[in-house]
Amino acid sequence: MNYALVTGGSRGIGAAICRRLALSGFGIIINYRANREAAQAVADSIIANGSAAELLPFDVASEQEVDAAFESWEKSHPDDNISVLVNNAGIRDDSLLIFMQSDQWHNVIRTSLDGMFFVTRRALKGMLTRRWGRIINITSLSGLKGLPGQANYSAAKAAIIGATKALATEVAPRKVTVNAVAPGFIKSDMTADLDEDSLKKQVPLGRFGEPEEVADIVAFIASDKAAYITGETISINGGLF
Ligand code: NAP
Repeated sequence: MNYALVTGGSRGIGAAICRRLALSGFGIIINYRANREAAQAVADSIIANGSAAELLPFDVASEQEVDAAFESWEKSHPDDNISVLVNNAGIRDDSLLIFMQSDQWHNVIRTSLDGMFFVTRRALKGMLTRRWGRIINITSLSGLKGLPGQANYSAAKAAIIGATKALATEVAPRKVTVNAVAPGFIKSDMTADLDEDSLKKQVPLGRFGEPEEVADIVAFIASDKAAYITGETISINGGLF
């Protein structure tokens, strides 16, 4: 069976991506770090709809945990493949740079950027051998334009766009595509502390986006119909640039 691995699949955008890719026919591997209950609820809803889903907890920022998780999954699934990887796990820890602690800088970079590297390196091997694969990196409007209080997050997300373009050229001969999706304000736990009523006035379409709207783009990129799109960053932000 062809599986899609979604990092940070327990909540928010990642959970919506898991549910949507299950409808596309992929078995779903739901990664999370801490929130087993939420991840299990996502798996249960996918299984209830007749698709396959399983949990694979690891901290994307830990090279050892990533490698151990891949080894155990590959051992228990000798006839299955990870054909789609969605690097979605991410955190924000905002502060004006002048007040930012080193931990805040490193934790955000480690989770978003190092995590993408550790997981992609492992997932790529099978895709290159089978000559088909989809890597989809969730970046952010913050990485395109830079937002105040988010130098750490903007840096990580901008770096992901650079890595997306570089890797796309490396693996294109093997028919593996690498793209990024850059959401603006999307309703999730990550944005729950923001003043939505005031911020939505900045958005030309006048509202925050839904996780399911991001998931639909990811599903298109994961499909055969998107075979000629690679190295691209697709914005979904209600017109807020
Ligand atoms: P969220 O609701 O806060 O969910 C974050 C997810 O990431 C959770 O599933 C969490 O797992 C997981 N996670 C965090 N650190 C992890 C780690 N070290 N290892 C493995 N999993 C980890 O966030 P979201 O809003 O859905 O955001 C998803 C992605 O979209 C992020 O990359 C974010 O930067 C990006 N994004 C979001 C927005 C927005 O407006 N929401 C806008 C632009 C970009 P646990 O449940 O176990 O904690």
